[in-house]
Amino acid sequence: DPRLQAISEAIRVIPNFPKPGIMFQDITPLLLKHKVFKDTVDIFVDRYKDMGISVVAGIEARGFMFGPSIALAIGAKFVPLRKRGKLPGKVICEDYELEYGKDCLEMHVDAVQQGEKAVVIDDLVATGGTLSAAIKLLECMGAEVVECACVIGLPHVKSRLNGRPLYILVEPSEL
Ligand code: 5GP
Repeated sequence: DPRLQAISEAIRVIPNFPKPGIMFQDITPLLLKHKVFKDTVDIFVDRYKDMGISVVAGIEARGFMFGPSIALAIGAKFVPLRKRGKLPGKVICEDYELEYGKDCLEMHVDAVQQGEKAVVIDDLVATGGTLSAAIKLLECMGAEVVECACVIGLPHVKSRLNGRPLYILVEPSEL
């Protein structure tokens, strides 16, 4: 896909953020380029539009930058998966280990119904811990996670996702 080269080039690497030794993959330059941003969303939309998916779940915070556009385009709802204490209604919570720290992901219990087909969207997958927590939240409420999708990732993380497919657009540069 010729669009992937421009997507890859629009990701900026910031060394030692947020901690020394981390090569942070910054997707904000991609959001500044209309064509590249649109191409990124379109690739996901083309992949998921005819699969009967009714839930696009986005992971805070950068999953919120891609998820809603994809949801609107494929005719699905958008479900925010948020860090601890941010959602006001009744939630279920799933702990996970992060590359730099530990956290918990929450989802409103009434956000999805039994049997709904879902995709999970985030900007980047590193260890797969965050996506794995997202899968557990959705499956706990009876949804079927068809696939997880990220803009950036390493192919090897698939193993962490309990057999759920992982779709990645580009690999990180300078990691
Ligand atoms: P994982 O749980 O797969 O180890 O980490 C993925 C999560 O950490 C994602 O929510 C992602 O947004 C965030 N993350 C970790 N490292 C980076 C990075 O270098 N760049 C960006 N944009 N996000 C990162």
